[in-house]
Amino acid sequence: MSKSRGTWLRSLLAPVKGLYREVLALSLFVNLLVLSVPLFVLSVYDRVVFHGGLTTLEALLIGMALALAFDFVLRQARSRIFQRVALQIDIELGRALFRKIAALPLRALESRAAADWQAHFNDLEIVRNTRSGSAAVLLCDLPYILLFFGLIVVIAAPVAWVLPVMLGILLLIAASSGLLVSRASEAERSAARERDGLLSEMIQGRATVKALALDPALRAPWEAQHAKTIEAGLKRGGLADAFGNLGHSMVMLTTVALTTVGALAVLDQQMTIGALVAANILGTRFISPLVQLVNNWRSFAAYRDAARRLDALFAEGEERSDTVLELPRPKGRLTAESLVFTYGEGQRPVIDGISMRLGPGGLHAVVGRNGSGKSTLLKLLQGLYPPDSGRVLLDETDIAQHARGQVADWIGYVPQDCFLFAGNIRDNIAMSRPEASDEEILTAAERAGVQAFVAELPAGYATEIGEGGTRLSGGQRQRIAIARALLRDPPVLLLDEPSANLDPQAEESLRDQLVELAKTRTLLVSTHSPTLLGVCDSIMALQAGKIALAGSGRDVLPRLFGGAAPPEAKTRTGA
Ligand code: ATP
Ligand code: MG
Repeated sequence: MSKSRGTWLRSLLAPVKGLYREVLALSLFVNLLVLSVPLFVLSVYDRVVFHGGLTTLEALLIGMALALAFDFVLRQARSRIFQRVALQIDIELGRALFRKIAALPLRALESRAAADWQAHFNDLEIVRNTRSGSAAVLLCDLPYILLFFGLIVVIAAPVAWVLPVMLGILLLIAASSGLLVSRASEAERSAARERDGLLSEMIQGRATVKALALDPALRAPWEAQHAKTIEAGLKRGGLADAFGNLGHSMVMLTTVALTTVGALAVLDQQMTIGALVAANILGTRFISPLVQLVNNWRSFAAYRDAARRLDALFAEGEERSDTVLELPRPKGRLTAESLVFTYGEGQRPVIDGISMRLGPGGLHAVVGRNGSGKSTLLKLLQGLYPPDSGRVLLDETDIAQHARGQVADWIGYVPQDCFLFAGNIRDNIAMSRPEASDEEILTAAERAGVQAFVAELPAGYATEIGEGGTRLSGGQRQRIAIARALLRDPPVLLLDEPSANLDPQAEESLRDQLVELAKTRTLLVSTHSPTLLGVCDSIMALQAGKIALAGSGRDVLPRLFGGAAPPEAKTRTGA
């Protein structure tokens, strides 16, 4: 187990520590009241029945009525405290988890499947349920089984030794149940996660799945994984059932053992029948929480695993969220110094020693064949990926010194595959700056060419675009993404193939907008479009992560397009 185990949880649970103390104190009284029943039985057998004391019975009944009422009130109070604990865990841990995942660097987020991240919220549920559900109640009651044992020693000493023996056996069962069941649970969990991953991938790629009728190809792996999940579930269920039933046998065995030993003691006149009956009740009280412990061992094991996973997550490094130095709005000079970046260890660098200097101001382009590293370069320039070596400077400062939020304010970025969120068009544009006025939103929309198609929609900017913006065309989505980036009015703007989905008219209008914006801002576009390249102040051609060719648009363009060849082909020869 990691050294940091539980530190995050402990600090998150600090506010509810007091509540746990209250629960423990309440549990003492709850369990003291439990003692009233065997004492009642003992008195009825030995006094009322034996001596015919009906008045005693009345008094005892009144006492019991009071005890039962009190018991109910105490248990209710305890439940309410546990509800508060659950609420606190839900609120605090849920918030911390969301914040943590959001603060992880992009590389970390990309390193695991989407279903993996979602699974952390199941972990949260496990933590909440174990900390506030029946398992927690059980743990609070557990220390007080000593009370029952103590009372047995007092009223039925000759049979008391049976209980420690049973305790030993049950602990052995609990330990082996924990080990076996938790191993089986983990197998079930990972099989289910893989199966759910397949499902969510199928839903995400639904259009492709339908278009290519891929469902038969997907069904086989899904069914294999589904079968694996079911098999693991059966195995886990079988084990859990076996241990559960073993626990019940132990309760019965305890009664049999106590009664046998007790009967001998009664014959020997070492104790009364009443004491034997009371000892039996107490014995069940003693053993039941232990049996429940065996049954719950799985949830404790699941809790430990969930806590370990959350621990590992909370120990992961976050992006910088504080800024050493608040700076005024940069002028927009973007410099890269010997950038090197590799996606994975041992792979060849995708960006291999790139140095450049852009702006302030101007429209700049990066061209290159598919896979030459254009998108990766833009991500490095926006600080989405930290370079393995080298640095990116905005004006004179390394962007690594600034918080993610600040870099995002200063360096706008429109990714190659832009993502929109469920909601309407206005909200999607306003997302980057929720406090923006309608006028600012309209200006950004106008510049990005959103206005042109929104005018034709019946609901205009209030049009709901569906999950992931799927109700819009690719070009419409792209324009909204550009508007979203423009709304922040960043001094530097990086656009990854911004005209890939645009029709020629939209492309020309985007070109005019970019030229206009480039008068006061630094723009870098990755593009293959001759329309955009034609107006660029400078062009840089990438080849296998290196700059193959760079210079003013006027110099580079003829070499890229020499004949009527596509820019990629020429970039190669230009190297
Ligand atoms: P395109 O013109 O197709 O958009 P590009 O020039 O933008 O191409 P990049 O997306 O930067 O190319 O990719 C450069 C190289 O890095 C490719 O060889 C690709 O396989 C690799 N690559 C890109 N993204 C990842 C990733 N997340 N993990 C591992 N390798 C990646
Ligand atoms: Mg790309």
